[in-house]
Amino acid sequence: MLTELLQALGITGKYLFTRSVTLRYPEERREPYLRTRWRHKLMRHENGLERCIGCSLCEAACPARCIRVVAEENTEEARVSPGERYAKEYEINMIRCIFCGLCQEACPVEAIVLREDFELADYERDSFRFTKDRLLEPQK
Ligand code: SF4
Ligand code: SF4
Repeated sequence: MLTELLQALGITGKYLFTRSVTLRYPEERREPYLRTRWRHKLMRHENGLERCIGCSLCEAACPARCIRVVAEENTEEARVSPGERYAKEYEINMIRCIFCGLCQEACPVEAIVLREDFELADYERDSFRFTKDRLLEPQK
């Protein structure tokens, strides 16, 4: 009993003056890894057009079935993306998402990407429905 107690105190003493590995989150933050996959973003081209062409390949690739895309035709008067179509509606149910990144892999135009923003907690179920206005990158 005494031996175990001394061993435990020895371990405590050993780490007492070493540098802590824990961070005082949220004041201190760890640099995310380069390939971190968290919150999704819908990207734009340099000229401001939306990258998404409404092809629904991300929807088909999603194993959690949490993406919904509704496509519409572009017109020359109202062009939203460079392709024939664009995503009129784009929605991700973040409660179901498992952050596997398959939507990102499936996208032929690099429109949907998963980035490092991991602070997604909320109290309302509805706030986990990420609609296009929340996903789309703002105009530069
Ligand atoms: S990260 Fe995976 S689970 Fe989440 S939306 Fe993309 S494909 Fe679906
Ligand atoms: S995000 Fe990519 S894969 Fe999904 S509908 Fe848009 S263009 Fe297609």
